[in-house]
Amino acid sequence: MDTTQTLKLAIDHMSEGVQILDADWRYLYLNRAAELHGRAEADSLLGRTMPECYPGIEETLLWRDLCYVKQSGESRRIENEFIYPDGERRWFELHIESHPRGLLIRSLDISDRKLIEQQLRHAQRTETISRMAASIAHDFNNKLGIIMLSAQLVRETIADQFPESASQLTYAIAAARSAAEQVQRLLGLSRKQLLAPRVVELARFLDALKGQVGLLLGSKYSIETHCPESGTQLYVDPSALEDALLNLCINARDAMPGGGRILVRVRNTTLDEEYARNHAGVTPGPFVLIEVSDTGVGMDKLTLDRIFEPFFTTKAEGKGTGLGLAIVQGFIQQCNGHIWAYSEPGRGTSIKLYLPARINPTARNAERVSAESYAVNGSEVILLMEDDEALRQTLAAALESNGYMVLRAGTAAEAEELHQLHGDSIRLALTDIMLGDSTGVAVAAGLANRNPKLKIIYMSGYTESFFHDEAALEDDFILIRKPAMMRDVLQTVRAVLDGRMNKGVI
Ligand code: ADP
Ligand code: MG
Repeated sequence: MDTTQTLKLAIDHMSEGVQILDADWRYLYLNRAAELHGRAEADSLLGRTMPECYPGIEETLLWRDLCYVKQSGESRRIENEFIYPDGERRWFELHIESHPRGLLIRSLDISDRKLIEQQLRHAQRTETISRMAASIAHDFNNKLGIIMLSAQLVRETIADQFPESASQLTYAIAAARSAAEQVQRLLGLSRKQLLAPRVVELARFLDALKGQVGLLLGSKYSIETHCPESGTQLYVDPSALEDALLNLCINARDAMPGGGRILVRVRNTTLDEEYARNHAGVTPGPFVLIEVSDTGVGMDKLTLDRIFEPFFTTKAEGKGTGLGLAIVQGFIQQCNGHIWAYSEPGRGTSIKLYLPARINPTARNAERVSAESYAVNGSEVILLMEDDEALRQTLAAALESNGYMVLRAGTAAEAEELHQLHGDSIRLALTDIMLGDSTGVAVAAGLANRNPKLKIIYMSGYTESFFHDEAALEDDFILIRKPAMMRDVLQTVRAVLDGRMNKGVI
């Protein structure tokens, strides 16, 4: 083999694409990689001009760069996304330089690197949004708590004398409540929702969902549910799961503007090692699969790749927020589950939620504080630990107006001091989880050590690291989610003092 042949062979087998064009844009040479990159045989290109082979290329940015190099003789290095006739896209790094016969273009497929960069950007964006959500939630929960509690207090005080003004306050309370729900939803993005898992009987759960979806979607839509293994259970927060499934059903409706059928199927399944290897973030084991499918417009691959991105929406302004699936994904991940989407244009969509099937044998449903009006007043001494002063005063006022004697502490030191003064007369500590630079958990544990009969209720707006510790979750503890309605606080306090409740998230 002579040198020319050896060189040709080497260039032909390079992973970098090489193409040479003459001064009239005619293809003179392409190596194997260039054929692969352009998905065209050299024979079909050689002797023809670039605009002949790729109609429309003269309108592209790439063409501008090619002309620039041809005219100036200076080289260019660019990144270019190539769209194939079937719609597939790949990224190439192109080195364009002048050549004695015209132009030399070298191409390198950088799609994998681009994909990783994109995932990284996505992860960073999600991280920023979740941090923002968590900090908004922290501030808002306390503020909304103050609005809700004081409005309720005033409403009760004036109810008899000024019934009209009192009923006006109902709107303020409802608005604060709905804002609180929105904050919770935002927290879903950050996987910091305060979840209240319970043992959920799926067959019954789906029946209830069916009714709700029917009301929500209207008569053009029908929903069919399959839950073959009766007795299939999940340990999950039912209202968060319901939100997630409603979100999926609403997406399905939007994908079927003329109406149609939504199928919700549940089955038990095992994700094995093989599956885990091919799907990032999957731990093998038993899962309950809940699949929501529609026969709607479906999605192309580009859309499908982005649906879990916060704020990604293809819907008209004002129609979609692009938060639905991001929140569903956050919730599923917080449950150590996995979510997968399958779709093809025109062939419908199916979203699969895998939730861990493990139910801790000791898991039992927390006693619900009964919703009926049960006595909410008392005269016991309560130590209230809350570092937000306005919220502390409002909570204290709510408790005092129902007969309790409240000791107020804004810091761990104040709580200590009050405990030394009043010691055993304190029957209950109602404490925020975060207490300035200390945690209410540590302070309460210290007090309970010296006063074993002391009962403790925690309050928090979102999951803090404390709750990520599973052991803590299995423990008997009572938590009131912030912002809380007055009735919930009072009923929980009463139920705990009476020994009717020793575990639960309210
Ligand atoms: P939104 O519904 O506000 O647009 P989502 O996060 O719920 O936000 O969905 C993001 C995008 O994913 C939608 O705009 C749509 O393009 C696509 N999508 C989601 N579910 C479906 C579905 N069932 N069928 C077709 N496209 C869907
Ligand atoms: Mg949606």
